[in-house]
Amino acid sequence: MDYASRLDKVKESATFKYSAQAKKDGVINLTQGLINHETPKKIRDAAIKALGEGKTTYTPTRGIPQLREKISDKLKSQNGIKGLEAENILVSCGAKHLIFEAVMALINPGEQVALPNPSWVSYESIVHLAEGKIIWLPLKAHEGFIPDDDFFSRLEDSNPKIIFMNSPNNPTGAVYPKKTIKKIIDLAERKDAWIISDEIYERIIYDGRHFSPASVYDKTITINGYSKEFSMTGWRLGYAASKVEEVIDRMNIIQSQSVSCATSFVQYAALEAYSKEVSDEVEDMVSELKHRRNLLVEGLSDLGVLNYSPQGAFYLFPKLGGDDIRLADKLLEDGVGVIPGSPFGSAGQGCVRISYGFIPADRIDEVVVKFAGSIK
Ligand code: PMP
Ligand code: GLU
Repeated sequence: MDYASRLDKVKESATFKYSAQAKKDGVINLTQGLINHETPKKIRDAAIKALGEGKTTYTPTRGIPQLREKISDKLKSQNGIKGLEAENILVSCGAKHLIFEAVMALINPGEQVALPNPSWVSYESIVHLAEGKIIWLPLKAHEGFIPDDDFFSRLEDSNPKIIFMNSPNNPTGAVYPKKTIKKIIDLAERKDAWIISDEIYERIIYDGRHFSPASVYDKTITINGYSKEFSMTGWRLGYAASKVEEVIDRMNIIQSQSVSCATSFVQYAALEAYSKEVSDEVEDMVSELKHRRNLLVEGLSDLGVLNYSPQGAFYLFPKLGGDDIRLADKLLEDGVGVIPGSPFGSAGQGCVRISYGFIPADRIDEVVVKFAGSIK
């Protein structure tokens, strides 16, 4: 068949593919990038209220003004990004679509995009869709996947139009220290590159503090969403923010010609995400995730397969060695669903991604025992 060649280098998302395979009786599912926490009731009730009030029509393509104002206030007060107004915000159906819009708005065929290796699976495919050229920046498990000299010298030798940053990180759980982020910003500034800072896990930090590059570097597009922090993966809502209003305007052109706008009543519901009650609930959820992280890190370190302790998100990326696709298949046969490491980049070879977002703490012993049995 005569299909478009732009998909030649683009694969189905491995996270979705392997999550679907692991949804079987008897399988402990450690594949999914989501948390077994119900969306806060206040948000669910607000969606029902919005539906009852007939808030079911198109909204402005950029999102309802009330939500964009809440987002800009939050970014100013919590992330230290001064000078943002509602005009600097674009709301869409999930962070993923906003990353797609950002890359499509910036990259001409052949232009360079710097991606840490490993990186979340969708960045690579989105860059391929835009026909950009990927510059992989090496990260190492024994450095806890924090950028080191090799990462910076590769970056120094390249000429990227965009540098991707994702801290806390999927798939590694790494939280970049502020000085590392500042070093990336210095380089971006010298090379006049954009930073796309994917901050979707910003609230899920156990040790260390979050730092938003946009607080000191204007040529940044900050990406965030409601999927993780508020356990709203199925609601499909996220946002992009940039001090450079023009880039938001360009992304909005793609939005108006693709999805039109995010779902109306979901946007009204998200206004409740900024209440104190919801914030307290998120804090409890993060404490529970930290407890799971501690148990899993202990168990897997005892097995000798993990040599770092991730400080955030809810992922571990142990290096087991061998062929990671076979490993993931074998683990699945033995009743543990994980994502193989290589779809996250060549540095993921021999690794698997474990999500502990969906596994109750009292089942973690069982996970470690099954793991030990399967990889021996
Ligand atoms: N960025 C990262 C790093 C992710 O892990 C995900 C997965 N949810 C996304 C973006 C996309 O999130 P959303 O559900 O808002 O599209
Ligand atoms: N981001 C999540 C993950 O990495 C959900 C799936 C996806 O969006 O790719 O598992």
